[in-house]
Amino acid sequence: MSSSPSPSSKLPPFDAGDPLGVDDLLSVEDLAVRDTVRAWAADRVLPYVAEWYEQGELPGIRELARELGGLGALGMSLDGYGCAGASAVQYGLACLELEAADSGIRSLVSVQGSLAMYAIHRFGSEEQKQTWLPRMASGEVIGCFGLTEPDHGSDPAGMRTYAKRDGGDWVLTGRKMWITNGSVAGVAVVWAQTDDGIRGFVVPTDRPGFSAPEIKHKWSLRASVTSELVLDEVRLPADAVLPEVTGLKGPLSCLSHARYGIVWGAMGAARASFEAAVEYAKTREQFGRPIGGFQLTQAKLADMAVELHKGILLAHHLGRRMDAGRLRPEQVSFGKLNNVREAIEICRTARTILGANGISLEYPVMRHATNLESVLTYEGTVEMHQLVLGKALTGLDAFR
Ligand SMILES: Cc1cc2nc3c(=O)[nH]c(=O)nc-3n(C[C@H](O)[C@H](O)[C@H](O)COP(=O)(O)OP(=O)(O)OC[C@H]3O[C@@H](n4cnc5c(N)ncnc54)[C@H](O)[C@@H]3O)c2cc1C
Repeated sequence: MSSSPSPSSKLPPFDAGDPLGVDDLLSVEDLAVRDTVRAWAADRVLPYVAEWYEQGELPGIRELARELGGLGALGMSLDGYGCAGASAVQYGLACLELEAADSGIRSLVSVQGSLAMYAIHRFGSEEQKQTWLPRMASGEVIGCFGLTEPDHGSDPAGMRTYAKRDGGDWVLTGRKMWITNGSVAGVAVVWAQTDDGIRGFVVPTDRPGFSAPEIKHKWSLRASVTSELVLDEVRLPADAVLPEVTGLKGPLSCLSHARYGIVWGAMGAARASFEAAVEYAKTREQFGRPIGGFQLTQAKLADMAVELHKGILLAHHLGRRMDAGRLRPEQVSFGKLNNVREAIEICRTARTILGANGISLEYPVMRHATNLESVLTYEGTVEMHQLVLGKALTGLDAFR
């Protein structure tokens, strides 16, 4: 009598790093992108980022930008003009790997590619695209995106920054707040009121009247440049306006693209914290045995793994929808709301597993947790995404 193998012996082994087998969804090219970005972050960010974080600076940001440009990570999913033309899934994988190193690095890439470059690529004139995109894709020029103002965050419709016509010119006056990359940017995409509604302007930052003082004293995203933009009668030529869009749908569509990257990125911060917690739990002994052997610790790890890999699966799903041209903004809100909220919970739980060491910069957990406080707020707060979904579910607008 021959014994046939049991069904389970035909199954692939359980992979603790990929318990749901999500990697099966990836192509050889996808895996190559992921491995390249992961290796770059391991070499160029991870050994230094705790110190950058402690100092509250991102030294060498221009060099890092050029290296990221060399990897094709800037404006990665855009076509032409020196951009890599990668898929949305590949862009997402890159965001995850960058944020597994630090949210500040992913923010640099998101703002450059999904906000500043995306705005020019989608709404700019051919001349604006030719002038800026190749140099931004290579990392030679860093871009920023000025929407938020001191008195207008979640509700940008009331922004006060104003662009008035003066003959053929535009003259921009106002203030923008919390602008990533602001002080190091060579070009700023600035949104302003005009007599015809909200318009976007491509502002070279060497124009007289433009300044970008850096915001200090942050306890989150410390390895990231965040600035105020001061526009004091900045005179621009007529062709500085983004010609292809009027109204808030301009900045909001850029934000939707950037939020998509965050859906993936947040899971990178969560993965790094989860891995640190597993490693710690296996080696730290109390009461005569590794703390990972206690049921209460295992319950934490199991719940963290469930949310981490559900979040990664969700990011893949949204990525495939984006690649198919079928991703709705409400679905991006769904992903951003869930994945950032769960990522911060995973980091906080990891922090408890590391005990006192959890608060130390010797481990990545607290750094990721505090970074995610910004990620929870920017690109639409939790509440804004709940309101987006609430409106989609009920047909009732509860924003005001
Ligand atoms: C590190 C960092 C980097 C950033 N980078 C950029 C950038 O590059 N470019 C840019 O333009 N902006 C940037 N931002 C700004 C960010 O987008 C805003 O902080 C965000 O939109 C929220 O605005 P706010 O801080 O003014 O909060 P507010 O809008 O004042 O909100 C405060 C609280 O009130 C809640 N709230 C507001 N309205 C409602 C409502 N109707 N119902 C229920 N709750 C409500 C909010 O959800 C929030 O909890 C950045 C922020 C940070 C922290």
